[in-house]
Amino acid sequence: MSEKNCLFCKIVAGEIPADIIYESVTTIAFRDINPQAPLHMLIIPRKHIATINDITPQDQEVVGDLYLAARDIASSEGIADEGYRIVMNCNEAAGQTVFHIHMHLLGGRALTWPPG
Ligand code: 5GP
Ligand code: ZN
Repeated sequence: MSEKNCLFCKIVAGEIPADIIYESVTTIAFRDINPQAPLHMLIIPRKHIATINDITPQDQEVVGDLYLAARDIASSEGIADEGYRIVMNCNEAAGQTVFHIHMHLLGGRALTWPPG
């Protein structure tokens, strides 16, 4: 299920190091290399799915698990009650640069709305 030239598949495979903070059967999460907030984690499925547009009904559980991971990470990082933001960019206009779906979990500061 991995794509040869996908950066995040390589992190899943352990071929590229990452500061991994959560692992389950379907999901891993690690700290963003260029954090946009005091806490900035990326939550990704082990399965390669390029964009939101490529999610199929068979992926429902895998995609749902991203939210369960986000909930657990927000709690373990101590920001569940104060609040945090989940973002998933789709394609170029939204700023997607890595084509393996990933949730950004941002927290640890007040976040403005709307985002840019
Ligand atoms: P996107 O722009 O696709 O929504 O988000 C990609 C994210 O991946 C960016 O926030 C970027 O900083 C992060 N990123 C890119 N390369 C790496 C890497 O090698 N390691 C980690 N931990 N994060 C990365
Ligand atoms: Zn991938």
